[in-house]
Amino acid sequence: MRYPLLSLFSSIFFAALLLSCQTPGSISRDYQRALETNHELQNDDQTTLLILVDGLSSATLSTSLKNSNAPNLKSFFRLSKAGDVSFQLARSSFPSLTYPNLTSILTASKVSEHGITGNRILVDGKTVNFENVLAWRTLDQLVEDHTVFHELTKQNKTSISYSYPFPRETTAHVEKTLQAGADYLDQRYTEIDTASITSLKRLLSETSSQQWPRFIFLHLIGVDALEHQYGPENERVQTYMKSLDEQLGEVFEIVAAGSADHETRTLLTADHGFQRIDKGLDLTSIISKLGSEIRLVQDNRVASLYFPTAMPLAKRKEIAEGLLQIPELQATVLRMGKELRVYARSDKALTTDEDLLWPALEDFFKAPNAPDLLLLPKANIDFSGAYAGNHGGFTSEEMLVPILSRGFKLPDTVFSTSDLLRLLKLMP
Ligand SMILES: [Zn+2]
Repeated sequence: MRYPLLSLFSSIFFAALLLSCQTPGSISRDYQRALETNHELQNDDQTTLLILVDGLSSATLSTSLKNSNAPNLKSFFRLSKAGDVSFQLARSSFPSLTYPNLTSILTASKVSEHGITGNRILVDGKTVNFENVLAWRTLDQLVEDHTVFHELTKQNKTSISYSYPFPRETTAHVEKTLQAGADYLDQRYTEIDTASITSLKRLLSETSSQQWPRFIFLHLIGVDALEHQYGPENERVQTYMKSLDEQLGEVFEIVAAGSADHETRTLLTADHGFQRIDKGLDLTSIISKLGSEIRLVQDNRVASLYFPTAMPLAKRKEIAEGLLQIPELQATVLRMGKELRVYARSDKALTTDEDLLWPALEDFFKAPNAPDLLLLPKANIDFSGAYAGNHGGFTSEEMLVPILSRGFKLPDTVFSTSDLLRLLKLMP
């Protein structure tokens, strides 16, 4: 996620002023009020807490565990086995960006099904950028009726969302407040995450565990923001991981105590991993020289081309192959009807885990709004030029994410995070 709340200030500053300031106890209060006023709401003796640490790569988590920056994660999720500290991996949806993956996880559907093919997508020929808070209305329209929150509401079951882009149809949720906007603008990521965690602690301790919501979604954004700004290997990321671990430790204590008389399943995963970025590449002028009618969408570490329908296949192949002359590109993937053709530099694999990840790329191209040609840069290149770390590409570092569980047995194989809520039987 890239500065999603910035535009609160540029565009809807005055609207934001009208929003009331959310206090740490307000979600707990909203939830209590909902239980009191709607007697049909059920709590069916089970709670699932899903913690999504935005951008937490397996490398970052490994370093945290190795350097003793995540002792609470290690003990709560029992990551230490026979002297070894290890965790399971899951496969992200492609592209390894926030909005396709949040949507895949919360709707338990594939990119080909929900159509959120990037943080930037083409809707009726226009680019909609979900990194801008104003585009969240379009996101709402595209995913409404498909989320786990909708599903639970339909069954009169309770849910809470601590995720700014996904508040709809929950029993209670975080509000876009002026304070949250100001915190993001001033890069006080810790304070946004801390506000969410503090609010969750209040909710869990002020509600008897039998009354805990059926599903709680906690979306933490600080790690992603720091990895973008300083790069995934920067020490600031580890310092923040340590602080996050301390705060989550307090949540885990309450959860563990409440689990004595209430079944609680806690999971922690990420929407995508990260790559260090050494150089940005802007394709605008190169693509415009190929023809003014070709549409280009540059989205972090992935770029999409849409050709005019009349363009012959031979011309498409020529472009797909020709663009590989750009030294920063690793591969281009051309859609030819139902077939995909990969043009890769010097026959190298796209990634070391190609077999494992290939289904995600194939699924992407089945989306109704999938591009005709996909451009994948080399590992440490992006199409933004604004960040020290980025993601969106097809490398294992971006596509394979940690998945930790307590109270629920995960499959032994690497599964897609889009299957997670179905495995948990929260989605049909
Ligand atoms: Zn993200």
